[in-house]
Amino acid sequence: MSPHETAPADDVLVACDDAALTFGRGANAVVAVHGATLRVRAGDRLAVVGPSGSGKSSLLHLLAGLERPTSGTVSWPALHAGPGDIGLVFQGDSLIPALDVVENTALPLVLAGMPDDRARQEAIAALALVNAAELAERLPEEISGGQAQRVAAARVLAQAPRLILADEPTGRLDHTTGGHVLDALLTAADRTGAALVVTTHDPAVAARLTTRLAMRDGRLITRQRAEETP
Ligand code: ADP
Ligand code: MG
Repeated sequence: MSPHETAPADDVLVACDDAALTFGRGANAVVAVHGATLRVRAGDRLAVVGPSGSGKSSLLHLLAGLERPTSGTVSWPALHAGPGDIGLVFQGDSLIPALDVVENTALPLVLAGMPDDRARQEAIAALALVNAAELAERLPEEISGGQAQRVAAARVLAQAPRLILADEPTGRLDHTTGGHVLDALLTAADRTGAALVVTTHDPAVAARLTTRLAMRDGRLITRQRAEETP
């Protein structure tokens, strides 16, 4: 190893190398992502911007391990259990209708084996951090879209993942409400020390993240700085 290779491998949460994603075959093939190369490292605050259909969601699905690349590779060098350490927030994130807000927030913890009482306490603490404590006893049908997105951020926060991937989390919200959701995600990332990747077509949302990568027609058209992509 040369002395210039300073970044330890375990600093990289996701490594995408020339990863492509094609849907369909032959004449019907749609190349959603063309050979994307990027690194997401601990502490990163990354926005992926681009118009509708440019491949933002597809790229995020590759980073999450929800889709396997058609060619190239995606790996998670620092995530011991692979993509299991990733918290996902989707646009219009669906909460489970029969569970109240605390139960929805606690669910991933309960599913991971945490005792109910402790999971509930963690969920309440996470809701307080995103200013949603007063929603605790409500059912999803009794809260607004912006509130539901804050609950989705709290659910991720409670999970304490190393990487948070949010796909247009403010997409259907007005600016003020979207700002609160982004506050919640940034709080979640700061509190848990997670890296955060947010897709958006809103420049005001992108401006609040440290690094912006633009996509057009399935291509990443902004490169990370040279020192960020070994
Ligand atoms: P964005 O999130 O930027 O709107 P997407 O990643 O959703 O873009 O889509 C990129 C391209 O891939 C679009 O042309 C879209 O129609 C196509 N696409 C996305 N998902 C699928 C799918 N499951 N099957 C076929 N085509 C898809
Ligand atoms: Mg999308």
